[in-house]
Amino acid sequence: MTQQFASDNISGICPQAMQTMVSANSGHVSSYGEDRYTAEACEQFRTLFDTDCDVYFVFNGTAANALALASLCQSYHSIICHQSAHVETDECGAPEFFTHGAKLLQAQGELGKLNPQGIEALVHKRQDIHYPKPKVVSLTQTTECSTIYSPEQLHAIQQVAAKHQLYTHMDGARFANAVASLDVAPADITWRAGVDVLCFGGSKNGLAIGEAVIFFNKQLSEEFAYRCKQAGQLASKMRFMSSQWQGLLTNDVWLHNAKHANAMAARLAQGLANIEQLEILFPVEANGVFVQMPSAVKQAMHSKGWQFYDFIGAGSRLMCSWDTQPETVDAFLADLQQLSR
Ligand SMILES: *Cc1c(COP(=O)(O)O)cnc(C)c1O
Repeated sequence: MTQQFASDNISGICPQAMQTMVSANSGHVSSYGEDRYTAEACEQFRTLFDTDCDVYFVFNGTAANALALASLCQSYHSIICHQSAHVETDECGAPEFFTHGAKLLQAQGELGKLNPQGIEALVHKRQDIHYPKPKVVSLTQTTECSTIYSPEQLHAIQQVAAKHQLYTHMDGARFANAVASLDVAPADITWRAGVDVLCFGGSKNGLAIGEAVIFFNKQLSEEFAYRCKQAGQLASKMRFMSSQWQGLLTNDVWLHNAKHANAMAARLAQGLANIEQLEILFPVEANGVFVQMPSAVKQAMHSKGWQFYDFIGAGSRLMCSWDTQPETVDAFLADLQQLSR
């Protein structure tokens, strides 16, 4: 058994990203991003988003989020996020650290999503000098529940954000899966929906390493390069990060990878729905399925060698990757079917 459902970052490098990285491995090339691979990758992002955005490459999502947020607020500000947001639950305080103390205000909301009411409630909770002033809304797309904000939901949030002069940050560790599922132009669910900065995930979409930080609001990216360098996020051999992105962005490989992962999650969900004793916890909209199974069955699956984690409440999270094979899904389902009898 070589494939698992523990996460979408347990997969390897997709062939196209590997190939462009190998192509970049020739000769001596200027360091720290002053190279043609990096310039070309940035240009590909501008074409993809149909706008003149500023693009930076960092090593991981935690740094992308924390540094992006730090460029949106001062230490006495606060950042509104969902209570299950990665920035709140999974980044070891990096957003607080890199903002020098901005407070994360947690909102509740169905299916891992923020909504206008929840944001309003936090904005109105306190408006005095003794409480950090809300400055940013941080959304995760797709969410930690593997659900998706529709363009309409994003526009509703955009209105509240505009009303209260909040910047919008999008944690897009799985942005590709959202675009693939919604079948929209990337611009429609980012800058046209008020997103100031997007952290576009590469690792979970087939890169070896790296996320792109994309500023649609270019005023906010002023001196961002210094922030990256100070945080140890400026790769000297940048070409090997940026060239990988060329592999994803050329011929929409990123979208095909995401569509495949989503399709595998749909296949998994379909099979799970036919097994008694199981309950699917959230609508399956992207590449993850959350399922509640009897603990004896879960233990038995683990004993058979299947790896997956419990996440957000008691459910088991099953993540599909760009390379998850239908046979892996079917083998998982067959084992589960047998053990659930
Ligand atoms: C995986 C993930 C990240 C990035 O995590 P790193 O391990 O720091 O690369 C960020 N946000 C979400 C929602 C994620 O799932």
